Amino acid sequence: MFSESLKEKIPSICLFFESALKRTRLANAYLLCGGDYPLKEEFAYELIKILNCLNPIENGQPCGICLNCNWIVNKQHPDLPIILEPDLEKSKKGVIVVEQIAKFLSRIQNKSQFYRVILIKTAESEQLPSQSANSLLKSIEEPNPNILFLLFTRDQEQVLPTICSRCQAINFPNHKQLSALEDNFNIDNNILEWTKIKSISFYKASQYSDIILQQKKEIPELMSLLDHLTAIYLEKEKIDLSKIKLIENAKLRLKSFCSPKNTLEELIFNLQN
Ligand SMILES: [Zn+2]
Repeated sequence: MFSESLKEKIPSICLFFESALKRTRLANAYLLCGGDYPLKEEFAYELIKILNCLNPIENGQPCGICLNCNWIVNKQHPDLPIILEPDLEKSKKGVIVVEQIAKFLSRIQNKSQFYRVILIKTAESEQLPSQSANSLLKSIEEPNPNILFLLFTRDQEQVLPTICSRCQAINFPNHKQLSALEDNFNIDNNILEWTKIKSISFYKASQYSDIILQQKKEIPELMSLLDHLTAIYLEKEKIDLSKIKLIENAKLRLKSFCSPKNTLEELIFNLQN
């Protein structure tokens, strides 16, 4: 059911889910643990396709060409997945607030023709504190039919026990060792070269953001790195305002306590694509 490339990366997880799918024994909620965010996302989107393909080929493999498959792959599907994440405008300090959950719960009350998958990309208690978590518990425990919760966390210890106890934990492997060149990558020495990269995968962007966060542990350090980046883009012959806006937006997010990791990986990905 899962793609060959995903099976190569996480054979036992694919096997485990394939067997659950074949026996229609999918749990209500899974907690996807581990630091490799892009890998978890890749897995989640494949699972969403498997659950919603209109014309699965043999062995339940998604066809990849039907309307649902297409929309899911291009992240254009109106209902798949339903993403629950800290709302920058409405939330305070990068937290998923109770009002968001109430709105979300009324949305999933409606019947749907799809197997709806709810992604909570930051299930840590810092982003999903007890008040918000509590209002979710019942629907995680007894969801409507054809609803699946996928919660992401880097570290299971950071998730509230009330949430953990209602999810089946799946441990994803962490990032593979970076290549020798990247082990020596120092953002301050390489920043100019680094802005010349033409395109980058989300996976790579995520790896870079890990390295940068090892080197810049405090928000003020990250802020001055972003100022330095802005200066580099301003010095370019053809000033690209969209890139400068991306950097400014990342600074705002850091100031409003959004996850530095998420902010950086998105920035790097968007700057270099
Ligand atoms: Zn399909």
